[in-house]
Amino acid sequence: MEPAVLNVRDFSQDHRWLSINTATVRKQWPLDRIINECAQRGITAIAPWRDQVAAVGLDKIARQLRSSGVQLSGYCRGGFFPAPDAAGLAAALDDNRRAIDEALTLGAPCLVLVVGSLPGALTGQPLHKDISRVRNEVRDGIAATLQYARQMGMPLAIEPLHPMQAAERACINTLEQALDLCDQLDPEQTGALGVAVDLYHVWWDPKLAQQIQRAGRQRLLAFHVCDWLTPTRDLLNDRGMMGDGVIQLRQARAWVEAAGYAGFAEVEIFSDHWWAQPGETVLDTCIARHKAVV
Ligand code: ZN
Repeated sequence: MEPAVLNVRDFSQDHRWLSINTATVRKQWPLDRIINECAQRGITAIAPWRDQVAAVGLDKIARQLRSSGVQLSGYCRGGFFPAPDAAGLAAALDDNRRAIDEALTLGAPCLVLVVGSLPGALTGQPLHKDISRVRNEVRDGIAATLQYARQMGMPLAIEPLHPMQAAERACINTLEQALDLCDQLDPEQTGALGVAVDLYHVWWDPKLAQQIQRAGRQRLLAFHVCDWLTPTRDLLNDRGMMGDGVIQLRQARAWVEAAGYAGFAEVEIFSDHWWAQPGETVLDTCIARHKAVV
């Protein structure tokens, strides 16, 4: 049971603070349809992925967002900085600059960074095992990208991933680690660099409340929700609908709001189960659970 009284915004009456990460229904619909389905339900924010935008066309999506009144809670994603050689590192920086340009065209409030880890690991063939090296490459990659991001006025949000993803997708695995990097690269807390708190990745962390408080309003750029199922059957694609797992969602929301976060709760569910349901059912369930348990 959730504690009875927590000091949070009231989500029970409407869903003005609901955002849908569009990966949640990516198997059902292309992005233009997702935007329409969201707008029809009064969902006013989404977080799209670059491949979904590219599949329909950047300019077309930007126009559709403007005409439908749907805004972004974030743009997914930049990052994947490590590479086996100098050319690869440079290519990653180029790609991150393009992601920033796209985020600007779409009016995103931040570009979410999944920072990357051992090159080749994602395809089952890691080219080396040196996680210290890739952490340094990530630090240098974010530092270089931050220069461009500052010029363009696009905040970068580092998303720590659960340690089960440490080899393949992100060598930043706790909020503390992400915030240490923020403090190193943006010590003045200018708002140009912060974190995306995805509860699926960080709910288990004994320092979660403490690090959310440390992050504060200047660093808390995005808040992602879903649920942790028991047992979890797939390391990537078995996220739960809010309320179906063991994450104390409202407690965590109370922590981010106490720290000054007043933005969207973005639903991000990678799930073979939910991808097999009608998209309408998924969105309607997201709205209901957002009101009831987030
Ligand atoms: Zn996320």
